Amino acid sequence: MDVYEAKKGFEELLEKMNAIEQAVALMYCDSSTIEPKKAGEETSKVIAILQTEFFKSLVSEQMKQYLEVLKNNIDEMDEITKKVIKRINKEYEKYAKIPSTEYREYRELTAKSEKAWADAKENSDYNLAKPYLEKIFEYNKRFVKYRGYEGHPYNTLLDDYEPDSTVEKLDGVFDGLKIKLVTLIRKIQASNKQINTKFTEGHYDIEKQRQLSKYVLEIIGYDFDAGVVTESAHPYTMDINKNNVRIASRFFENEITAGLYASIHEGGHARYEQNVDDAISKTALRGGVIMAIHESQARMYENMFGRDINFIKFIFPKLQELFPKQIENISAEEIYESVNQVKATFIRIESDELTYSLHIMLRYELERMVLEEKIGVEDLNNIWNQKMEEYLGIIPPNDKLGVLQDVHWYDGSIGYFPSYLLGNIIAAQLVNTMSKEIDIEESLLQGDFSKINEWLKENVHQYGKSKTPEEIIKDSTGEGINPKYYVEYLEKKYGELYDLK
Ligand code: ZN
Repeated sequence: MDVYEAKKGFEELLEKMNAIEQAVALMYCDSSTIEPKKAGEETSKVIAILQTEFFKSLVSEQMKQYLEVLKNNIDEMDEITKKVIKRINKEYEKYAKIPSTEYREYRELTAKSEKAWADAKENSDYNLAKPYLEKIFEYNKRFVKYRGYEGHPYNTLLDDYEPDSTVEKLDGVFDGLKIKLVTLIRKIQASNKQINTKFTEGHYDIEKQRQLSKYVLEIIGYDFDAGVVTESAHPYTMDINKNNVRIASRFFENEITAGLYASIHEGGHARYEQNVDDAISKTALRGGVIMAIHESQARMYENMFGRDINFIKFIFPKLQELFPKQIENISAEEIYESVNQVKATFIRIESDELTYSLHIMLRYELERMVLEEKIGVEDLNNIWNQKMEEYLGIIPPNDKLGVLQDVHWYDGSIGYFPSYLLGNIIAAQLVNTMSKEIDIEESLLQGDFSKINEWLKENVHQYGKSKTPEEIIKDSTGEGINPKYYVEYLEKKYGELYDLK
């Protein structure tokens, strides 16, 4: 096979894989929103068949041969193709090392485990999920052995979500941060400041909330001609391709902030996908580079822009128009206080911007200890509760509010959690640099995101996966990942909000 044939065959195979991915993504969107209940079983079956086809193509003999020829002639390739080859080769090597029967068994296990988890959560009984989780950790330990690791076994799992990260780097970032966050939370818990929560306690018509959601998505620049907004039990963004970026939000009558901020959060993810450069968006480099950068975009829009006093002042007239009764005696400043209240909660996804990071650290520490065999899966629920007390001063009364709350471990996503926290850190770092070039406060007060969006497109979005996360952070901020800006942001914001010394 000559280079020309290899390149052509490689690209055709990737196109087929891309088509499968898009079909699966679309089916997921359908099944999580409008699919009738009875259709679920058939859909799961079809998705499983398609995913197996994808996997077969990835580790196929054909793929192996194409990659060999292309790697031997890498200097002849253009820059984008070089990066595509590198990325696919990494994926190929990762899965080719795992015996395919074991991988299939593992996928069957995770499907069963997810169901067991749902049952365990409903009954708040960790024992129902524990045997599955034990096996999931065993498989992952074995996969790490097949795949090999440098430094720490956790690094190999982490690599699936955060290629540039290692345990050593994470510890360097997280350790100092944890002390500062716990100190800040303790100060807030001891302060006498009374937060006005009238805004979050009111009842809000769901249809009007949908209008509000559409309004804020328009303001932040979500392209409605290249996306659809739907509703689902768990909010998400799904990029079928850059011109078909689906958002699912959710609304509760007695909790206006949940829907409002879910929409802005997912809008942040979606803007990233919609802004990847056209030259990249049709290759395997399409889509956001990596979890942490993706999450940084979502959290930046949600927390740093969406919960900023200036943005709230801007949307205030719209809130008055949609909810004249509920807003009657509430000021923009009171809404600001209310949506930024710090309160230790058991549930991660209900937690505020500040305590959220400690929820993540707890999960990172626990999954690592299990991999290191310092603790067993049977101890996870108890150590979970101990750490909750240590970090947030509260103890979950049952496992549903503790170790059973997230699906991640039970669906096999071990090593995934650190991305969420890195996202917060990266968001603050990017905003710090952006603020030197753009008057962010004024942009938010005017509800004009054009300069902000342009800056993000220029520095982050356009590159898709063609740059590594480290390159994106370094090229845009001039330094590697630095938690300093996140701490400064939190101390300033919450110091003022809670009148801290
Ligand atoms: Zn997110």
